[in-house]
Amino acid sequence: MGSEYRVLINGELCESATRETMDVVNPANGKVIAAVPKCSSLEIDRAAEAAWKAAPEWAEKSPTERAAIFFKLAELLRAHRDEWAKLETMQYGGPIFKTYNFDMRFDAEHFEFMAGVGRAVTGKTLPVGPQAMSMTIRQPLGVVGLITPWNFPLVTAISKITPCLMMGNTAVVKPPSCAPLTVLKLGELAIEAGVPAGVLNIVTGPGSSVGEALVKHPYVAKINFTGDSETGKRILALASAAVKPVACELGGKNAFIVLPDADMKATVEGAVWGGFFNSGQNCGASSRYLVHESVYDEFAAKFVAATKLLRVGDPLNPSTQIGPVAYKGHRDNIERFVERAKRSGAKLLLGGERPNTPETKDGFFVAPTIFGDCDPKSEIMQEEVFGPVVALARFKTPDEAVAIANDSRFGLCASIWTKDIRQGLVMTKQLNVGTVWLNQHLSIVFECPWGGCKESGHSKENSIMVLDEYSMMKNVWIDLVGTPATPWQGILG
Ligand code: NDP
Repeated sequence: MGSEYRVLINGELCESATRETMDVVNPANGKVIAAVPKCSSLEIDRAAEAAWKAAPEWAEKSPTERAAIFFKLAELLRAHRDEWAKLETMQYGGPIFKTYNFDMRFDAEHFEFMAGVGRAVTGKTLPVGPQAMSMTIRQPLGVVGLITPWNFPLVTAISKITPCLMMGNTAVVKPPSCAPLTVLKLGELAIEAGVPAGVLNIVTGPGSSVGEALVKHPYVAKINFTGDSETGKRILALASAAVKPVACELGGKNAFIVLPDADMKATVEGAVWGGFFNSGQNCGASSRYLVHESVYDEFAAKFVAATKLLRVGDPLNPSTQIGPVAYKGHRDNIERFVERAKRSGAKLLLGGERPNTPETKDGFFVAPTIFGDCDPKSEIMQEEVFGPVVALARFKTPDEAVAIANDSRFGLCASIWTKDIRQGLVMTKQLNVGTVWLNQHLSIVFECPWGGCKESGHSKENSIMVLDEYSMMKNVWIDLVGTPATPWQGILG
């Protein structure tokens, strides 16, 4: 069986060699919406070789030439905004208000942002004395493998593709099997925009075979991965055999800390957004709420009341805020978390059941769910659910809040809600995470670096700093006097 979607290898859209396909299911109604090539290591071999051959010429292009292609891609993405936002929503369930207003805007602007900052990459000169000059230059790595998740399918792919290509590397992208459609469409636009053959390759297929073949391929100099922490560990282990670097952006169990003086209205609004945007399927979602005991009851009551206002339903309806989760297996896993939390003694404050309306009955929906009075050591406070399920706990002092927040295998982000900015900054320094927001949660923008520590990974996305992930720093030494001053100077007489 063939597929209307094709992978991109060496500038050509093609099927897999076996012509096998994988179905893509709309999680809002369980219906198959497309089939995509189910590739194998054969296609990874072809893509890696094409990328390897294209690398020298692409590396020689000036940043201005690369930027011109990026601007064209941004223009083409804008032209397809309506159609692609709908496709994104249909393949993984993100509500159309999100895919149209956030994802598609970000996708186009990210090409423009990188086209700008990628032309401003500099090296350093180093103080090595009067007889020499030393400097650093940034050089491409060669072929980079980009393995991406489903929760922001095109956004995550683009936020890796743009710095990768801008720094003169070539790429082989492995999109998620449940939501590969928009990334495959980007392959078509890349041809139209004039991306040279082999510079960008896109190969679909199971992570366990295609993903691993990409990680192990000898032509691939580095892997950049976003996804589950356990997958990240597997990729790190595979790559270590060749001492291959891996940039990882993994899971999170992010604390939302409410101090007694917090502005309650803004805090509750931030809590609903942080916990339930994209049905909680964000690595940066606020999934643990640590609330000072003096305001806990008020916060919990207002948070529950505000969450009840969210519209759960058809993600193509512009007023829907909570769509389905990405696929059936993920919904089932979330429901198992909920059942275990109920049995653990956590107090169910909202949700906990599958919504059952005409709009949701055939899809993979999870009602927004809030557990109260949770034990900070319990599973629901420690493990990433990656769905619309959050947990609340009380604390007595700021030190205790920081201790609970840091008692996690993850270290991605946290937010602190207070009018006392001095107190907020003291706690900011104590939190063992990559991003802290004061009176905000989930502000992720191009200008600021994004990434964590511990089992959340150790690389950065976004900002000009991301360019370091896609380049090698080379040190250059230039002798200025023609007679190197070594201890053996004069040995030739
Ligand atoms: P995975 O880590 O399984 O998948 C992410 C990507 O890695 C996909 O393209 C996947 O391919 C690929 N992959 C899977 N296994 C391997 C492997 N052995 N070698 C190479 N590549 C592989 O995450 P899921 O999409 O299944 O999501 C599961 C969990 O991951 C979530 O519940 C959440 O906890 C976390 N997650 C975190 C994200 C973040 O932004 N930090 C984003 C998404 C998920 P394929 O789809 O074919 O399996």
